[in-house]
Amino acid sequence: MTKWKDRLEKSLRKFFQGRYGMDALNKCIFFGLLVTTILGQIYPRVWILSLLNFLLTLAFFYRALSKDLNKRYLENQKFLESIKPVGKRTGQVKTRIKNRKTTSYFKCPQCKTEFKAPKGLGKIKVTCKNCGHKFIQKT
Ligand SMILES: [Zn+2]
Repeated sequence: MTKWKDRLEKSLRKFFQGRYGMDALNKCIFFGLLVTTILGQIYPRVWILSLLNFLLTLAFFYRALSKDLNKRYLENQKFLESIKPVGKRTGQVKTRIKNRKTTSYFKCPQCKTEFKAPKGLGKIKVTCKNCGHKFIQKT
Protein backbone atom coordinates (compact mmCIF):
# COMPACT_ATOMS: atom_id res chain seq x y z
CA MET A 1 0.00 0.00 0.00
CA THR A 2 2.69 2.48 0.97
CA LYS A 3 5.23 0.99 -1.38
CA TRP A 4 4.26 3.04 -4.41
CA LYS A 5 4.28 6.13 -2.22
CA ASP A 6 7.81 5.38 -1.08
CA ARG A 7 8.87 4.79 -4.62
CA LEU A 8 7.24 8.00 -5.77
CA GLU A 9 8.84 9.94 -2.97
CA LYS A 10 12.22 8.46 -3.71
CA SER A 11 12.05 9.27 -7.39
CA LEU A 12 10.81 12.78 -6.66
CA ARG A 13 13.64 13.33 -4.25
CA LYS A 14 16.08 12.01 -6.80
CA PHE A 15 14.63 14.34 -9.39
CA PHE A 16 14.98 17.39 -7.18
CA GLN A 17 18.34 16.44 -5.79
CA GLY A 18 21.04 18.84 -6.90
CA ARG A 19 18.48 21.13 -8.47
CA TYR A 20 18.32 24.75 -7.61
CA GLY A 21 14.76 25.16 -6.35
CA MET A 22 13.35 28.36 -4.87
CA ASP A 23 15.05 31.65 -4.11
CA ALA A 24 14.04 35.30 -3.92
CA LEU A 25 14.20 35.75 -7.69
CA ASN A 26 12.11 32.66 -8.35
CA LYS A 27 9.55 33.76 -5.78
CA CYS A 28 9.31 37.05 -7.64
CA ILE A 29 8.97 35.24 -10.98
CA PHE A 30 6.30 33.03 -9.45
CA PHE A 31 4.43 36.10 -8.23
CA GLY A 32 4.62 37.58 -11.74
CA LEU A 33 3.33 34.28 -13.03
CA LEU A 34 0.31 34.47 -10.74
CA VAL A 35 -0.39 38.08 -11.68
CA THR A 36 -0.17 37.43 -15.43
CA THR A 37 -2.33 34.32 -15.03
CA ILE A 38 -5.04 36.25 -13.21
CA LEU A 39 -4.84 39.22 -15.58
CA GLY A 40 -4.90 36.78 -18.48
CA GLN A 41 -8.21 35.45 -17.18
CA ILE A 42 -9.64 38.95 -16.94
CA TYR A 43 -8.25 40.20 -20.26
CA PRO A 44 -8.01 37.10 -22.48
CA ARG A 45 -7.46 39.19 -25.60
CA VAL A 46 -4.30 40.90 -24.42
CA TRP A 47 -1.75 38.67 -26.14
CA ILE A 48 1.22 40.21 -24.36
CA LEU A 49 -0.10 38.77 -21.08
CA SER A 50 -0.07 35.22 -22.40
CA LEU A 51 3.36 35.76 -23.88
CA LEU A 52 4.64 37.13 -20.57
CA ASN A 53 2.98 34.27 -18.74
CA PHE A 54 4.62 31.77 -21.04
CA LEU A 55 8.06 33.33 -20.67
CA LEU A 56 7.75 33.53 -16.89
CA THR A 57 6.72 29.87 -16.75
CA LEU A 58 9.78 28.93 -18.77
CA ALA A 59 12.07 31.07 -16.60
CA PHE A 60 10.57 29.70 -13.42
CA PHE A 61 10.98 26.04 -14.28
CA TYR A 62 14.30 26.60 -15.97
CA ARG A 63 15.70 28.18 -12.82
CA ALA A 64 14.02 25.87 -10.32
CA LEU A 65 15.16 22.70 -12.09
CA SER A 66 18.56 23.98 -13.08
CA LYS A 67 21.62 22.09 -11.94
CA ASP A 68 23.94 25.03 -12.50
CA LEU A 69 23.67 26.18 -8.90
CA ASN A 70 26.46 28.74 -9.11
CA LYS A 71 24.95 30.58 -12.04
CA ARG A 72 21.49 30.65 -10.46
CA TYR A 73 22.98 31.86 -7.19
CA LEU A 74 24.74 34.72 -8.96
CA GLU A 75 21.53 35.64 -10.78
CA ASN A 76 19.74 35.80 -7.46
CA GLN A 77 22.49 37.97 -5.95
CA LYS A 78 22.26 40.34 -8.90
CA PHE A 79 18.51 40.48 -8.52
CA LEU A 80 18.75 41.22 -4.78
CA GLU A 81 21.31 43.92 -5.51
CA SER A 82 19.02 45.54 -8.07
CA ILE A 83 16.00 45.70 -5.75
CA LYS A 84 18.03 46.97 -2.79
CA PRO A 85 17.58 50.71 -3.55
CA VAL A 86 13.80 50.22 -3.53
CA GLY A 87 13.91 48.65 -0.10
CA LYS A 88 16.17 51.39 1.22
CA ARG A 89 13.87 54.09 -0.10
CA THR A 90 10.73 52.60 1.45
CA GLY A 91 12.70 52.20 4.68
CA GLN A 92 13.48 55.91 4.64
CA VAL A 93 9.85 56.81 4.05
CA LYS A 94 8.82 54.56 6.94
CA THR A 95 11.21 56.19 9.43
CA ARG A 96 10.06 59.60 8.25
CA ILE A 97 6.45 58.75 8.95
CA LYS A 98 7.45 57.30 12.30
CA ASN A 99 9.48 60.40 13.27
CA ARG A 100 7.20 63.02 11.75
CA LYS A 101 6.25 64.42 15.16
CA THR A 102 9.80 64.76 16.48
CA THR A 103 11.85 65.47 13.40
CA SER A 104 11.38 67.91 10.57
CA TYR A 105 12.81 67.15 7.17
CA PHE A 106 13.74 69.80 4.67
CA LYS A 107 15.87 70.42 1.61
CA CYS A 108 18.53 72.94 0.81
CA PRO A 109 16.80 75.44 -1.54
CA GLN A 110 19.88 75.61 -3.72
CA CYS A 111 21.16 72.05 -4.19
CA LYS A 112 18.25 70.01 -2.79
CA THR A 113 20.41 68.15 -0.27
CA GLU A 114 18.14 66.72 2.41
CA PHE A 115 18.45 67.66 6.06
CA LYS A 116 16.69 66.79 9.24
CA ALA A 117 16.43 68.62 12.56
CA PRO A 118 14.54 68.04 15.78
CA LYS A 119 11.15 69.73 15.76
CA GLY A 120 10.33 72.63 18.05
CA LEU A 121 13.61 74.53 17.75
CA GLY A 122 11.83 77.41 16.06
CA LYS A 123 13.69 79.16 13.28
CA ILE A 124 17.19 77.84 12.79
CA LYS A 125 20.03 79.00 10.62
CA VAL A 126 21.23 76.24 8.37
CA THR A 127 24.46 76.12 6.46
CA CYS A 128 24.30 73.49 3.74
CA LYS A 129 27.15 71.09 4.16
CA ASN A 130 27.05 70.29 0.48
CA CYS A 131 27.04 73.69 -1.22
CA GLY A 132 27.59 76.10 1.67
CA HIS A 133 24.30 77.93 1.05
CA LYS A 134 22.90 79.60 4.21
CA PHE A 135 19.18 79.69 4.83
CA ILE A 136 16.64 80.05 7.62
CA GLN A 137 14.46 77.03 8.31
CA LYS A 138 11.46 76.79 10.58
CA THR A 139 11.33 73.48 12.40
ZN1 LIG B 1 22.92 73.07 -0.59
